[in-house]
Amino acid sequence: MDLRALYQDIIVDHNRRPRNFRRLDDADRRQEGFNPLCGDKLMLYLKLDGDTIRDISFEGSGCAISVASASLMTERLKGRTVDEARRLFKCMHDLLTGRDNGHNHEDLGKLGALAGVKEYPSRVKCATLAWHTLHAALEGASGPVTTE
Ligand code: ZN
Repeated sequence: MDLRALYQDIIVDHNRRPRNFRRLDDADRRQEGFNPLCGDKLMLYLKLDGDTIRDISFEGSGCAISVASASLMTERLKGRTVDEARRLFKCMHDLLTGRDNGHNHEDLGKLGALAGVKEYPSRVKCATLAWHTLHAALEGASGPVTTE
């Protein structure tokens, strides 16, 4: 099996048909994120039920990697806990910035499709934008986040 081709397919598919791409009118948290290097913009919506992410969605515009990353992230986190989201944020951040301290990424599943991005330093922020925006939303940031 050609993993590279498989991963490419996942990114193309999630860019063409982004999952959870909609406004969430009853969101508990709204967080705006911006990557000025590429012009990627997104608005992330979170609906929490205690420590559980009951719903998560996004809107915005950007390159294929930024849209696919947000789509894969929302697909993965719906129904998961806030703690799990924080762990995945750290895991994805380490993976994408090459700060892989040997911890196990096997449970990333489809999110592993984004790992190849680390070979293209100018695109890393496209992939991390959604995750930084998520982190800011969970920490209750007051203003928009930017990757710069
Ligand atoms: Zn981009």
